[in-house]
Amino acid sequence: REIPVSQVILSHKSPDGTVQFYSAIIRDNTERKLAETEKARLTSILEATTDLVAIADVSGKVLYMNRGGRKLLGFGENEDLSDKINMDTHPAWAAQLVLNEGIPTALRDGSWSGETVLISRDGREIPVSQLILSHKSPDGTVQFTSTIMRDITERKRTEEQNRLQAVALENAANAIVMTDSEGTILWVNPAFTLLTGYGAEEAIGKHARLLQSGRQNSEFYANLWQTIKRGQIWRGELINRRKDGSLYTEEMTIAPIRDQQGAITRFVAIKQDITASKQAEQALRKAKEAAEAGSQAKSEFLANMSHEIRTPMNAIVGMTELALDTELTREQREYLTTVRSSTDSLLSVINDILDFSKIEAGKLEMDRIDFPLRETLEDIMRTMALRAHEKGLELACRIPPEMPEGLIGDPGRLRQVIVNLTGNAVKFTAQGEVVLNVEVESQTGNDVCLHFTVKDTGIGIPAEKQGSIFEAFTQADSSTTRQYGGTGLGLAIACRLVRMMQGDLWVESEPGKGSTFHFTAHFGLQVGARTEPVPQESVNLIDLPVLVVDDNATNGRILEEMLARWKMRPTAVNSGPLALAALAQAREAGAPFPLVLLDVHMPGMDGFAVAERIKQDPLLSGATIMMFTSASRPGDIVRSRRLGVAAYLIKPIRLGELLETMLSVLGNRACKADQVRVATRRSRNDRRRGVRILLVEDNPVNQVVALRLLEKQGHRVLVAGNGREALLALKKTAFQGFDLVLMDVQMPEMDGLEATRAIREEEKATGSHVPIVAMTAHAMQGDRESCLAAGMDDYLSKPIRAQDLFVLIESLVGVSAANAPEPRPPKRDVIDEKKILSFFEGDMELLREIVALFLAECPRQLSGIQEAIVRGDAAGLERAAHALKGSVSNFADPDAFQATQRLEKMGREQDLSQAEGAYAALEKEILRLQKALADLSKECVS
Ligand code: ADP
Repeated sequence: REIPVSQVILSHKSPDGTVQFYSAIIRDNTERKLAETEKARLTSILEATTDLVAIADVSGKVLYMNRGGRKLLGFGENEDLSDKINMDTHPAWAAQLVLNEGIPTALRDGSWSGETVLISRDGREIPVSQLILSHKSPDGTVQFTSTIMRDITERKRTEEQNRLQAVALENAANAIVMTDSEGTILWVNPAFTLLTGYGAEEAIGKHARLLQSGRQNSEFYANLWQTIKRGQIWRGELINRRKDGSLYTEEMTIAPIRDQQGAITRFVAIKQDITASKQAEQALRKAKEAAEAGSQAKSEFLANMSHEIRTPMNAIVGMTELALDTELTREQREYLTTVRSSTDSLLSVINDILDFSKIEAGKLEMDRIDFPLRETLEDIMRTMALRAHEKGLELACRIPPEMPEGLIGDPGRLRQVIVNLTGNAVKFTAQGEVVLNVEVESQTGNDVCLHFTVKDTGIGIPAEKQGSIFEAFTQADSSTTRQYGGTGLGLAIACRLVRMMQGDLWVESEPGKGSTFHFTAHFGLQVGARTEPVPQESVNLIDLPVLVVDDNATNGRILEEMLARWKMRPTAVNSGPLALAALAQAREAGAPFPLVLLDVHMPGMDGFAVAERIKQDPLLSGATIMMFTSASRPGDIVRSRRLGVAAYLIKPIRLGELLETMLSVLGNRACKADQVRVATRRSRNDRRRGVRILLVEDNPVNQVVALRLLEKQGHRVLVAGNGREALLALKKTAFQGFDLVLMDVQMPEMDGLEATRAIREEEKATGSHVPIVAMTAHAMQGDRESCLAAGMDDYLSKPIRAQDLFVLIESLVGVSAANAPEPRPPKRDVIDEKKILSFFEGDMELLREIVALFLAECPRQLSGIQEAIVRGDAAGLERAAHALKGSVSNFADPDAFQATQRLEKMGREQDLSQAEGAYAALEKEILRLQKALADLSKECVS
C-alpha cells in the first residue's frame, strides 16, 4: 500500500565531523492529501454551477461568493464583496441573506428555504429560490451562514402566463370544455355552467355527450369525431340541450391538443350561444320574404295598372287622331285638338308616375349599350327646339371638341334626364336662352365621368327651396304650380336616374336671374371610338374666313367653336350693322369673307335685312350666305331663296349638318345663286306604303284604331282575334302572306308570346322570318325582354302613337326588304303630290323651282355615287349618297329615299359588296321620281 508521507531526516556527526548515524521522522500524510483533493473538487463544483453560492459571517459580511453568483448579481470575479453587500449598499438582498424574517429561525434551526427577490448591482429584481444553512460551533453559537440561490425568472414568467390564461379561461364569455381523448370532461369554465346549467363538479368526469339533444343524427357526430381524431379542427353549429331540458343553438370549435410526442391527449371545445342571432336571422329572413312578396305585389299591381290605364288611353289617342283626320267643323276640330293635347299631358303624367313607382320598386334597370354622345344630345335638342322657339328662346348645345364620341350606357335614360331639365328650363324661362353644356369631369381607363349643365335665364329658385325640389311631388311654390303646371316628379325621377348612373344632380340658382342644373354621370368608353368626328373634307375649309352674325353670345360662341374645330377662321359680330361693317372692312383689306353665317332673328336689323344689303352691294355679293332660324315662318324659305341665300337651317345646329351644308354650298358656289338647301325638321312623309300586315288584337276598339291608322297609310291589314287565329292565317299563306305581324301580348286562348314562339318554330321548316312587333299595355322592364326572348323583333307600348308605329314599320320592313333577294312590293309611279305640297307649305313656286334644281343636280349626284362605287371609296359613297338622300327627302318618296339610304349605309359600314345592285335599284327609283316630278312641275305651271 502506498502511503503519502512527509519526512524529516537528520544526520548525526562525531566531533571530527564524520557522520555517526541518521535519524528519520516520517509522518503519514494520507488524511491531509485527501482533504486537499476534496476541497479542490468542491471549489470546482461551486465555481461551475450557475446558482449563487455564498458564505457570510453572522454580521452579513460576505466571505465567499462563487462565480455564478457574482455573474448573476453583476460583480467582478475577484472583487472583494465583504464591504459591498451589506445593509447600506444592498439593503434588500443583504437583509434577505441575513435578516430575512425567516432567518432567525434558520439560524436557530440550522436551515431555511423559500422564495425571495434579489436586487442585482444595477438594481434589477431577480426572483430566486433560496436555501440558507447556519453553521454552528460545538457550543451552539452560529459561526457563519451559507446560502444557495437559483434564478427562477423563467419559471415565474411561465407561472404568470399560466395564471393569466387561467383567468382568461375563467372569465371567457364563451363556454370552454376540456376533455380527454375519449371525450370525458376534465375541466369546464364558469361560462359553460352559465350556458348549460351544469356546474363544474357535475360535468367533470361525464362524457361530453351529456349535452346531446338528439337533433343531430349519428352521422353528424361520427363526422365530428373523425375530424378531430385526425388531428383537424372541427367547426360547426349544433343544437344542444341544457340541464333543464331546454334547447339552444351553439357554434362550436373543437381543437385537438397533443403531447410532446405528438399524440392527441386532449380536446378543447369552445362554444358560443347563437340562439338569439339565429332567431334574429330567421325573423330577418321572414321579413325579407314578406318585403319581397310586397314588392312583387307592388310591381304586379303596377303592371296591371299600366295595362288598365294604357288600354283605354290607346283608344282615346287613336280615335282622336282618326277623328282629326276627317272632315270637321272648326269647332269640332278645336275640341278634338284640345282632347289630343290633354291626352298628351295626361300620358306624360302617367308615365312619370309609373316611372317613379318603377324606380321606387327597384324595378328600373339601366341599359348598357353603345351610343354616340353628340348625335344623342343633338337629337334631344332638336326635339326641345320647337317648344323653345315657340317662346322665342334661344336653345343651344355646347359640346367641346375633345368630348369622347362613342359611349356605353343608357341613352334613353340620359335623354330622359336632359329632356326633363331642358323642359323645365324652357318652361320656367320667359326670355333669354337655355344652354346645355357638357364637359369631361374625369376619365379612368374605360370609364368617363361627364358633367352636364343646363343653364337658363328664367325665374330662378329661392335658396330655401333648392333642396326640396328634388323630392317627389314637390314644387318650388304653389303659385308657380298654378302658373306652370307639372307633377313635381320630374326632378325626383331625374335625381334617381342620375344616381343610377353613379352621378349627382344639383342646382345653382338666383331668383330672377336664372338657374343652372348640374349633373354628373358615368359612362363606359367604346374601344376604338373616335373622339373627334371631323371628316377629311375639312381640308377644304382650313383657314377659310367666316363671318358669324348672331345677337346671342352663346350661340355665336358655339358656332365659333364648331368652325374652329375645322380650322376655319371665324369672326363673330352680334348685330346686322356690325356685320356689314366687318364685310366692308374685310373687302377693303383685300380679304373678303367667302362665307357668312347669319342668324335670322336679331333686334333692329334682322338677318333678311342683312342678306338683302349684301345682295344689293355688288362688292359684297360674292359671299355665300347661310341663314339660321329658330322659328321658320311661312314664306321665309322663299324669301331666303330670293335673296340668294345658299342654305337655310333650323336651330339648334348639328355639327354634322353644319359641316355637310357648308361643304355642299361652298362646293357648288358656281350655282349657289339658284340653290337653296332646305333642312327642315325631319318629315315622316317618306313612309313606306302597301305593307301586308297581320294585326293580332283581341280588343275590338283597339282593333278598329289600329286598322284605320294602318289602312290610311295604304297598308293592307288582316285582323286576327288571338294568337291561334294568327298562326292559322300565317300557315294558310305558307308564311309568305305578310310582311309584318303586329301582336298584342295579352289575349285569350293563345297569348302573343306563345303565338310568337309557335310561329318561330314553324318558320324553321320554311326558313322564312316574318317581323313580329309586340304591342303591349304593360311597360315594365321585363316585358320587353320576354317579348324579344319569345322571338319578337321589336316592341311598342300602348297607347300606340301613330308616328312611332309608322317609323317602326318603315325600319322593320325596310330592313327586311333590303335583305330580301329580289322583288319588292308593288311600285307606285305617281308620287304623293299632296304631301309634297304640304311639305313646301303650299308654295307652288318654290316647289317648281326646287324640282327644277333637283332635276338639274340629280345626274351629277348619281354619277358621284357611281364613281365612288367604282373607286371602292366607301367614305365617298356615304357622302355622295347622303347628299342625294338630302335632296330626295324633300319629295316624300320613300322608295327613292330608302334606295339612297341603303347606299349610304353600305358606305358607312364599309361594305360595298352589294353596292352595284343597290345602285341599279337606285337609278330606277330616281328615274321614276324624276319623271313624276317633271310631270308634277308641269301641272304646277299649268
Ligand atoms: P314639375 O316641373 O313637374 O313641377 P319637377 O320635379 O321637374 O316637377 O320640378 C320641381 C319644381 O322645381 C318645379 O315645379 C319648379 O318649381 C322648380 N324648378 C325646376 N326647374 C326649374 C327651373 N329651371 N327654373 C325654375 N324653377 C325650376
